Amino acid sequence: MRPAESETGMRGKLVVGNWKMNGGLAANAALLSELVVAWKATPGRGIAVCVPYPYLAQVAAALANSAIGWGAQDVSEHAAGAYTGEVSAAMLAEFGCRYAIVGHSERRQYYGDTDAVVAAKAAAALAAGLTPVACIGETLAERDAGATMSVVLRQLHAVLAAVGVNAAKLVVAYEPVWAIGTGRTASPEEAQAVHAMVRARLAEDGAAEVALLYGGSVKADNAKALFAMVDIDGGLIGGASLKSTEFLAIARA
Ligand code: PEP
Repeated sequence: MRPAESETGMRGKLVVGNWKMNGGLAANAALLSELVVAWKATPGRGIAVCVPYPYLAQVAAALANSAIGWGAQDVSEHAAGAYTGEVSAAMLAEFGCRYAIVGHSERRQYYGDTDAVVAAKAAAALAAGLTPVACIGETLAERDAGATMSVVLRQLHAVLAAVGVNAAKLVVAYEPVWAIGTGRTASPEEAQAVHAMVRARLAEDGAAEVALLYGGSVKADNAKALFAMVDIDGGLIGGASLKSTEFLAIARA
């Protein structure tokens, strides 16, 4: 089964919120209840939130029996053992977690997640039955150097090599690093050009139907134009996922 299928239908739209290191029990409860009240199962459209580890239990309880998926923002590449501070894919799966973001640019930039580590995390997530949301994207310097396509393909290739025949179970998010949290977004045409290339590469591994999300300063007022692009299947939303009205407006865009 394609990962986003039960929430979206084939090549439906999927919008995933990445709360990053934000939240608190009271604020989460308010946000989650607003989402649950407002979001009903919608054919062809799915939403999910990826939250800090300590809030997984709260989110699991608040979203039980809702049409909203949920997940973590990272996962260990290791199965178990002496890895202080890490959380395994099996632990997340036991919680009922569905998604695990891997390779977010903030992990790559601040915590040294290399292509190999990101690929191993994606494989570990899949092995435990989670859906990895594998993030790829170039820095501004790489874009300016004309290296966007080669960087994105290098990052994607590492993940594909690690997951092998399970490529179709991935969700992939193209997130140009220069657009994350900056208020600057790729134009729909710029994003589509990269998505088309990523889709073509995925097709080589029999994974053309993978949900391919765009991320980077997506807001209610630019989401519609981005999501109208033929190879953009939705978004990975950071800052704007912390406000229910904004997140829901994006999901409905
Ligand atoms: C993200 O965190 O993945 C992201 C895209 O952030 P923002 O929407 O705030 O740019």
